[in-house]
Amino acid sequence: MWNLRYRFSAGAKRFGASRSRLQGRDLRLSWQRENALRHIAIIGSGPAGYYTAEAAQKAFGDEVRVDVFDRLPVPYGLIRSGVAPDHQSIKGVSRRYEKTALSDNVRFVGNVTIGEDVTIAELGALYDAVVLATGAPQDRQLDIPGADLANVFGSAAFVGWYNGHPQFADLAPDLSGKTAVVIGMGNVALDVARILAKTEAEFAGSDIVGHALDALRASTIERIVILGRRGPHQIMMTPKELGELGELARAAPHVDLRDLPPEADDAILEPGLRKSVTLVRGFAAVPEDIRAEKRIEIEFDFFAQPVRLIGEGAVEAIEVERTEVTAGRAKGTGETYFIPASLVVSCIGYRTHPIPDVPFDERQGRFANDEGRILPGLYCVGWARRGPSGTIGTNRPDGYSVVEKIGEDIGAGTLGRGGKRGREGFDALAAERGLDVVTFRDWKKIEEAEERAAREGAPREKFVDIEAMIRARD
Ligand code: NAP
Repeated sequence: MWNLRYRFSAGAKRFGASRSRLQGRDLRLSWQRENALRHIAIIGSGPAGYYTAEAAQKAFGDEVRVDVFDRLPVPYGLIRSGVAPDHQSIKGVSRRYEKTALSDNVRFVGNVTIGEDVTIAELGALYDAVVLATGAPQDRQLDIPGADLANVFGSAAFVGWYNGHPQFADLAPDLSGKTAVVIGMGNVALDVARILAKTEAEFAGSDIVGHALDALRASTIERIVILGRRGPHQIMMTPKELGELGELARAAPHVDLRDLPPEADDAILEPGLRKSVTLVRGFAAVPEDIRAEKRIEIEFDFFAQPVRLIGEGAVEAIEVERTEVTAGRAKGTGETYFIPASLVVSCIGYRTHPIPDVPFDERQGRFANDEGRILPGLYCVGWARRGPSGTIGTNRPDGYSVVEKIGEDIGAGTLGRGGKRGREGFDALAAERGLDVVTFRDWKKIEEAEERAAREGAPREKFVDIEAMIRARD
């Protein structure tokens, strides 16, 4: 029986909703039809997707069936191909998602691209609710002349390359120059700088892919410039990640003392940022002789905005304009200078990939939505909902809140009276179209093959092309 009255109340208690808010709804729910099994399709098997699946299971129990789709034959999205390979403890959260994936009411549907293999409208006809958890896999464009030169990459591509994402496995960045410029002062910029700076020994225990490790082993880069258009008080870097930069075997961070605001001004910062700024101050205090012992310098260049990239075919230099920051906003001063650059990685944020027929907010680079609702029956979570910010854990309340919305909409009758075909209908469509669906059991075979192929001390050697993943399953 679809005991929504009980379910919604129980779910609402978990979500902390107030009793008074629910009373009217409880009355409406009492006449909802019975035996209406509900079907939810979640598009994207990263953190936002699996937290939503977990929340749906907790709220609706046996009365829900959840299908988690992914265009890759492997699950976990950003955990697999975004989180840095030397941050294995963060990647460990996938064990929690696996628990959800293995439960009876949730299944993984890999190797299916929504918008190509199956349309959103088709899913809408089969499932009561469709939740887009597709993240923000596209780079925000660096909109300056020369951005199309060779050896200039966005962070989605560069991070995807060292993490073995099939789309970027062939990127082949040239690391044979001397200076890499990393644009942006967020955690992705820190990841990229750290990966470029580490020795082979420092990758022990990581799952960096073989092609990236080979290229980094041969790298001749000795200067990494992290370019920020604003100042130390405006960095988006978190303390743990900044701290790692100070502990590298052959690289040392450097900050110009003149870029630091008076120490007393740190008092107004929120505690996390204040900690980060304290670390930045520490980088300015590293004595010259200690820095000289390290082969690689990681230089923070504050108040510096990129103007253009210069080179014959491949990038050779970047022209940068000094800025002044007033009330938090950077303004160019007209003073420019050049930094030689053999590699440029722009880490300036991401955008969600639009899906045909789904309303899109071009300016924000995400689906147009009202607290996760796009249209009746169509929702979004995670970065696809709010843009690329926050930690992995931020996706958890997101997932729970969208499931609450689905519960409310079922209660209000906006999702129809149930009776949709759900996964049975999808399976028929997939068979008709000859889609080669990869199941969670298949993924476990792929995973085992990756674990068998691991270098000594590494957790896995990832397959970096889709065909190889599928072969490992067969
Ligand atoms: P982010 O934190 O938003 O940082 C983007 C940086 O790019 C900012 O410094 C921004 O400067 C700069 N920027 C934007 N447009 C620019 C332009 N046109 N020219 C120059 N600079 C520009 O983004 P992110 O580093 O991509 O990280 C995304 C999210 O993932 C964040 O929430 C991050 O914390 C998270 N993440 C976490 C970890 C971790 O916890 N280990 C690792 C990686 C990522 P302004 O501030 O001046 O705009």
